[in-house]
Amino acid sequence: TQDIHIIGGGLAGSEAAWQLAEAGLKVRLSEMRGGGDMTPAHETDRLAEMVCSNSFRSDDAENNAVGLLHQEMRRLGSLVLGAADATKVPAGSALAVDRDEFAARITQAIEAHPNITIVRERIDALPDHPCIIATGPLTGSALAEAIAAETGKDALAFFDAIAPIVHGDSIDMSVAWKAARWGKGGDDYINCPLTRDQYHAFVDALNSGEKTEFKEWEKDTPYFEGCMPIEVMAERGPETLRFGPLKGVGLDDPKTGRWPYACVQLRQDNAGGTLWNMVGFQTKLKHGAQADIFRTIPGLEKAEFARLGGIHRNSFIRSPDLLDRQLRLKSRPNIRFAGQITGCEGYVESAAIGLIAARFAIAEARGEELAPPPNLSALGALLGHITGDANAETFQPMNVNFGLMPPLPERFRKADRKKAYTDRARAALGEWLGEPAPAVGQPAAVDA
Ligand code: FAD
Repeated sequence: TQDIHIIGGGLAGSEAAWQLAEAGLKVRLSEMRGGGDMTPAHETDRLAEMVCSNSFRSDDAENNAVGLLHQEMRRLGSLVLGAADATKVPAGSALAVDRDEFAARITQAIEAHPNITIVRERIDALPDHPCIIATGPLTGSALAEAIAAETGKDALAFFDAIAPIVHGDSIDMSVAWKAARWGKGGDDYINCPLTRDQYHAFVDALNSGEKTEFKEWEKDTPYFEGCMPIEVMAERGPETLRFGPLKGVGLDDPKTGRWPYACVQLRQDNAGGTLWNMVGFQTKLKHGAQADIFRTIPGLEKAEFARLGGIHRNSFIRSPDLLDRQLRLKSRPNIRFAGQITGCEGYVESAAIGLIAARFAIAEARGEELAPPPNLSALGALLGHITGDANAETFQPMNVNFGLMPPLPERFRKADRKKAYTDRARAALGEWLGEPAPAVGQPAAVDA
């Protein structure tokens, strides 16, 4: 007998299985690798295999959002973070691991847990019993079809098409201005005007910028109209962008009273208005080239990117529409989603969403309801983004970052802001965990 069924033994599914089992629930963990199936990116049948880099990124919990998320996960007894700490290799301020030892350790821990049964099987249909679907960016195709049949075809993507996202407070609003084209729709866009020379220099830079190659199995990536990489559009001719996403018509620049020669538009990306999405800028340019080229755009010279662009094979659902705040599929609440398929991005984020999905499921099994962690914390901010705060229409996978949190009061100086975000987060998570508040004048609680 099982209390809960987890589908997918990757970063999210392994973390979720551990949390549930530790809470005393009986778990069936279905993993298709080792049962005759493989994904195009995995190489072994181990649980929680890291398919590419061996890094969990920055471990700086004071000044970095992903480092903060590490710390929060440690506070919540994360299996993934525990295994990462135990198998770490020198990597400066980053947390990098020996990937074989890491996956071996997780696999052993799960195999040895008396409350978990691992079944090497592929699941092709949506279960009617309580389950967590954590099948990741390369979800098996039959299950993906079953998900699409339930959610509607447009609500499950097979590729991401990520445009860069800029922190709003890094945009120079003495150059850029807010307005919608033809004055329709209020101040919904931030507009960055380009002169003729600036535009042509920008197109030349796109044409010569270094691009990432598709992996062999990604070569059939379809370029849908509307999400063509910006550099592919630029290659089609010098005027293509100016008649596409960079058109200046209908945008009166308040400084000149005229339409600019070309214009880059940014659209608000989250409810808080802290993040702005560069419209039409999905790209396969290398990250370094993106930052260099996009900072030549007037108004974006000092842009700080919450996320740079990319295009990959990546199955993910339109979570802000489909899931409730407890990660349940609204149309079939016996099903929770976790991991990258929810539209978070990265090993750490996926494991974190696995962790919180399990905590919700534990509470539910006990007839209780767990309030989501506060959006002042890294975990709560990431969860809030995928379960409702992001714009569902333009939803694309997202790493954790400070822009997902409510803005800080103005009084914090730039140099102090990151620390202020993480101090606030530590205190808020402590409160959610029911820990005593730190004494006045003392630093907020840190993990043990
Ligand atoms: P996964 O870890 O992929 O786990 C999903 C599991 O579900 C897999 O074990 C799979 O075999 C299983 N499964 C799928 N379908 C079924 C089914 N129908 N039945 C049973 N089991 C099934 N993130 C980073 O942070 N850094 C990187 O460098 C990085 N590089 C990446 C490179 C590639 C090529 C890809 C595809 C992704 C990369 N990612 C990277 C993203 C990374 O995959 C995720 O962050 C993370 O692995 C997602 O965790 P997950 O648990 O959601 O999915």
